[in-house]
Amino acid sequence: MRDPRYDILFQPMAIGPLTAKNRFYQVPHCNGGGYRDPSAAAAMRGIKAEGGWGVIFTEQTEMHQTSEITPFIELRLWEDKDIPGLRKMSEAMKTHGALAGIQLAYSGINGPNFYTKEVPLAPTALPIRTFTNDPVQARAMDKSDIRNLRRWFVNAAKRSKLAGFDLICLYGAHGFGIFQHFLSRATNQRSDEYGGSLENRSRFAREVVADMRDAVGDTMALTMRVSLDESIGDLGFSNAEVREFIEMNADLPDLWDLAQGTWEDCSGPSRFKEEAAQEVLVKGIRELSSKPVVGVGRFTSPDVMARMIRQGTLDFIGCARPSIADPFLPKKVEEGRIEDIRECIGCNICITGDMTMSISRCTQNPTFMEEWRKGWHPEKIAARGESENVLVIGSGPAGLEAARALSLRGYDVALAEAGDAFGGRVARERLLPGLSAWGRVMDYRLYQIGQRPNVQMYPGSELGVEEVLDFGFQNICVATGSQWRADGVARQHVVPMPGLGALPSFTPDDLMAGRMPKGRVVVYDDDHYYMGGVLAELCAKAGCAVTLVTPAAFVSDWTRNTLEQGAIHRRLVEAGVQIVLNTGVTALRADGVEANCAYTDARRVIEADAVVLVASRASNDALYHGLKARQADWADAGIRSVQIIGDAAAPGPIAWATYAGHRYARELDTGVWGEDWGDTLSFRREITELAAD
Ligand code: ADP
Ligand code: SF4
Repeated sequence: MRDPRYDILFQPMAIGPLTAKNRFYQVPHCNGGGYRDPSAAAAMRGIKAEGGWGVIFTEQTEMHQTSEITPFIELRLWEDKDIPGLRKMSEAMKTHGALAGIQLAYSGINGPNFYTKEVPLAPTALPIRTFTNDPVQARAMDKSDIRNLRRWFVNAAKRSKLAGFDLICLYGAHGFGIFQHFLSRATNQRSDEYGGSLENRSRFAREVVADMRDAVGDTMALTMRVSLDESIGDLGFSNAEVREFIEMNADLPDLWDLAQGTWEDCSGPSRFKEEAAQEVLVKGIRELSSKPVVGVGRFTSPDVMARMIRQGTLDFIGCARPSIADPFLPKKVEEGRIEDIRECIGCNICITGDMTMSISRCTQNPTFMEEWRKGWHPEKIAARGESENVLVIGSGPAGLEAARALSLRGYDVALAEAGDAFGGRVARERLLPGLSAWGRVMDYRLYQIGQRPNVQMYPGSELGVEEVLDFGFQNICVATGSQWRADGVARQHVVPMPGLGALPSFTPDDLMAGRMPKGRVVVYDDDHYYMGGVLAELCAKAGCAVTLVTPAAFVSDWTRNTLEQGAIHRRLVEAGVQIVLNTGVTALRADGVEANCAYTDARRVIEADAVVLVASRASNDALYHGLKARQADWADAGIRSVQIIGDAAAPGPIAWATYAGHRYARELDTGVWGEDWGDTLSFRREITELAAD
């Protein structure tokens, strides 16, 4: 079953008074559900327990009312009333012998307190440091505030114990936790015994750990999550200082949890960070303390994981995103099913659930955060319903996921693809700069489908209405995708842009098909996700003189939600791309584009030899509408249902397509798409219980 190379990953290891059953450690991660969706979040953690993780943590848990990060939705432990919700989560975590951990966060200089309206408290009085530059400052804590905060930590520790947790993680990484705020000279400019020397800056951490040990240390383990490198210049808590800190306080917590300095660095997307990217920053730290060490690095390869432990870099393999993409990763390693691991692609769509305060999704795992809401299990699916077969048309992420999940339900599936190769947009986009890991979306699914006897694949098969009617399949799933529009219609232009044809113009599909512009090129980005920035990089690499023009205030604006906007801007500057923000393109001209200021409408000409229009996409829905028009013939043709999914229904990110494919497969033959569709809610939710008065 298990390859002996991976035995090392299954050796139990002590953490303080407790023992983890293996080395798979799900570090804290957000999910966009938090306190608003407690049962959904708890069920998600329970699935990880089933999947074999040895240690499972909550997301950041706001441990006191004087520090919270509204609008972001995390967990709260402010009073006893919060205990039952958290107990539900800890119980789910412990169902298969995992240790249940809670991450206690006091956000200090990172908490604007919009909800509680309390004055933020921090080591030093400075403006609150958030993504949104909130117009709020923190008050510097005096000695009595520090005494209070120590007591609040003890209160939170006692409540964590009552809520059933085994481990407490003290959050001091990513710029988000008070321990880092005390440790860093940037955020701690105190002149008393809590500031100045590293010894003084560590005092608060030492005091809190000692207090908590007295309160709960006999039965609970304490871990400390610290930044590997704050990377904000000389004043920041550097990698050298973190090493000094750990050496000086070697046995302070029961485990050192090492994370990068900013969240952007720690959760770097695959476009900018390789697997195990933090290895150099972590190496050698383990030797500074007798306590075990956990570190992260988007680990999806059991070989890399085993190497990390064998070479003595880490004791535990910390995973957030890899555990989201495949909650059953440890089980699959244990059962020798390495090829079945659904590897994280590093797109950071999961993080957008937190950033947009919605609920998270995962490109690779469409069941993420639907475990309770929809009852979707990542590895189990109901047997098929009344009908027997499905024709899936189109092999992009929507069609591939539909075919995979339908085959697991036991349907006979035919997958027809117009092109010679399978994969749809993923097959093209994976060739763009930095996006090769995205190919895992199709690789995983094609491999899984290849293992199934009940899926027939038909490449080079562009189907029309008559052919579909002739084939005699009972269910037709139209997943024919979309194409980039060539007429500039998106947000600035809701009807075609003036001057089309005056200047050579290209769409993203042209570039992905190898038709490249030459000379001076304007990339006009009115899409605002990754494509505009990626194509600017592609054109610059091909030797074009590139100007990226966008009506937004940021390059690749929406990627602020995937934590990569800064890295994209940096990379484009380094590639020599001219960046023109807050500027639209009103018309194409023979000598370039007419640009306008997004605020004043002031016009100017940007000279160019060609333009790349990164606008919106048009659905390939002609086949679907053609079939709908022939509904009267369906019964004769043996057709029971025709549905359109993914980009063919409405273009969106790849995660939307895999979700649509999965949903189609789950819902086929369940009757939800009947005449009364939408009369009842399509998922479960929890709403606040009204107070008696
Ligand atoms: P999605 O993201 O929704 O999965 P994609 O654009 O990635 O969509 O994939 C759609 C796939 O459908 C493409 O590979 C395309 O070649 C294929 N396709 C489009 N129309 C037809 C058709 N009529 N018959 C068969 N395949 C089609
Ligand atoms: Fe990985 Fe993307 Fe899934 Fe997040 S959404 S876990 S980055 S595949």
